[in-house]
Amino acid sequence: MLIFKWRKNKVEQNKKRWKIEKKCLDLIFESARSVYPKEFAGLLRVDDSKRIISEVVLLPGTISGDSHAIFQMHMRPIDFSLIGTIHSHPSYSFYPSGADIQLFQKFGKVHIITANPFNDISWGAFDYMGKKLDIEVI
Ligand SMILES: [Zn+2]
Repeated sequence: MLIFKWRKNKVEQNKKRWKIEKKCLDLIFESARSVYPKEFAGLLRVDDSKRIISEVVLLPGTISGDSHAIFQMHMRPIDFSLIGTIHSHPSYSFYPSGADIQLFQKFGKVHIITANPFNDISWGAFDYMGKKLDIEVI
C-alpha cells in the first residue's frame, strides 16, 4: 500500500514538470533580441517524450510587432506536439498581461514569456491561467 502510494506521487510529480532544452531557450533569447523593440512570437513544440520542449515554431507573419497575431486559430497547424506559445516583451516584465492570459486560455498548456534583456533570468513560464510554472532547463 505504501509503495503504491509512493509510486502514484512520483507519477503525478513527473506529469506536472515541464522541461526545456537549453539550446531551444537560447534560440528564443536570440530571436527576441534580434527583433527588439518589436515582439517575437512563436509556438512551442515538444519532443516524443511529450515533456521536453525542444523546438520553437514560427508561423507566417508572426514577427510583426503584434504577438497576438500568432494566436489566430486559423493560422495554427493541427499538430498535437505544439503545446504552447512563446512571446517576448520589450519591457522588463515577463509576467503575462490580461490580454496574454485570455489568449493562453484559448490554446496551450505552457506559455513562455521573455522580457528585456532576454537572458537566463528574464523569462518565465506560465499555465493557461497565468500561474507560474517551474520548468527545468536541460
Ligand atoms: Zn505578453
